[in-house]
Amino acid sequence: MRRRFRRRLIGWYRRNARDLPWRHTRDPYRILVSEMMLQQTQVDRVLPKYEEWIRTFPSLKTLAAARPAEVARAWRPLGYNVRPRRLHAIAREVMHRYDGELPSDEPTLRSFKGIGAYTAGAIQSFAFGRRAPIVDTNVARVLFRVFVGQGDRTTTPLKKHLWSLSAALLPRRHVFDFNQALMDLGAMVCVARRPRCSVCPMSPICQAYPFNPDLEHGSG
Ligand code: SF4
Repeated sequence: MRRRFRRRLIGWYRRNARDLPWRHTRDPYRILVSEMMLQQTQVDRVLPKYEEWIRTFPSLKTLAAARPAEVARAWRPLGYNVRPRRLHAIAREVMHRYDGELPSDEPTLRSFKGIGAYTAGAIQSFAFGRRAPIVDTNVARVLFRVFVGQGDRTTTPLKKHLWSLSAALLPRRHVFDFNQALMDLGAMVCVARRPRCSVCPMSPICQAYPFNPDLEHGSG
């Protein structure tokens, strides 16, 4: 089942991947910026701001040297103003304590305010190619439907189970593509309200297929 899941997911991704600018880089700083922006904001709103931000602050060093007012201004109109403050603080701490290199290990990444389990996994797998799992809302929905099928996916044991599943499914190679593909499938096909089961590569192995919203509890 796991092997079939991986094979189907990667095959689908090769044909359907979204072309997003942060998929053309392995620069830890750029990955960090994109992940902080995507934490509370939809991809289509992040796209223009990401490009602009990278032009204004092309490196951790330039961001660390900027004044707080400049950083806050550059973030607008993305909401949740705690995020640029945190990003700025991370840049300064990395310059000060880590010689300008964003650390790649999970405990250190998670010691920064603003980097939780998901963002640490994303930075590790997208910037450093590590076999680190990710579970965001989209990924949780896909894994729940394919492997569990029905019930309440907001309980703590279930959330833990989804993290374990995400880790167990990781391939030995191509972790970048695998994690990006998981997010794309949740964003484009296995969406919250009306999943597009008829075009989904997982339908032959999915526990929730054919999808019945009455059998699923929990939002997102
Ligand atoms: S078959 Fe439907 S419910 Fe299952 S993963 Fe695909 S879109 Fe989601």
